[in-house]
Amino acid sequence: MYIQDQLNEIRAAIAAAEKRVGRPAGSVTLLAVSKTFPVSDIMQAYADGQRLFGENRLQECMEKMPQMPADCVWHLIGPLQRNKVRKALESGVALIQAVESAKTAAAVSRIAGELGCTARILLEVNVDGEESKHGFTPDELRASWSELTALPALDIRGLMCIPAPTETPEGARPAFAALRALAEELRARGPLPLPELSMGMSHDYAVAVEEGATIVRVGSAIFGRRDYH
Ligand SMILES: *Cc1c(COP(=O)(O)O)cnc(C)c1O
Repeated sequence: MYIQDQLNEIRAAIAAAEKRVGRPAGSVTLLAVSKTFPVSDIMQAYADGQRLFGENRLQECMEKMPQMPADCVWHLIGPLQRNKVRKALESGVALIQAVESAKTAAAVSRIAGELGCTARILLEVNVDGEESKHGFTPDELRASWSELTALPALDIRGLMCIPAPTETPEGARPAFAALRALAEELRARGPLPLPELSMGMSHDYAVAVEEGATIVRVGSAIFGRRDYH
């Protein structure tokens, strides 16, 4: 019952956060991050109505997908290596969340074109501007925007971020606000509606909802502590 209790608690907390800031109920989608957890755990979430799952690694995602009912929807949330783009596009994942550079975006568009499909993606933004981190810095994204939006086989749905860990959930608020502001700026520039903002994890998803997240990515708060061994 642990997983179902946790899920229900998180759903209630998301609804409460939506209400606090006057967002319509149901504006936010809960993505259950199932990386490292066995299919038996994922099935418990499924039994409680969860359909959207996120995996970090393509290989693990592709192993789990056929073991789960076909009405599950999968997002790839980990960094996408360029040599795995074709496999990712053929895997059936609904959204590739973490396209982190113009080079990767161009590769995704080119290969999607070859496969005759359009790739649904989010662009990962390095909102903290830390050198070591993945993603476009806000200035890189501004500079590549015209080039990115011209890529023919790409459906850029929005932005995602993984801010540096903070001691308190409040600590992440400036990063979330910055991602939202950047999305608003790019929307104003056009031509894309950019409906999705993927931000907030177990520790800080409620703050992310207050700052406009449309997808929160929650793992350990649903499934428990991860054991990487
Ligand atoms: C693991 C992971 C999460 C979930 O983290 P939790 O703290 O367990 O909620 C969210 N987003 C990404 C990109 C992740 O890799």
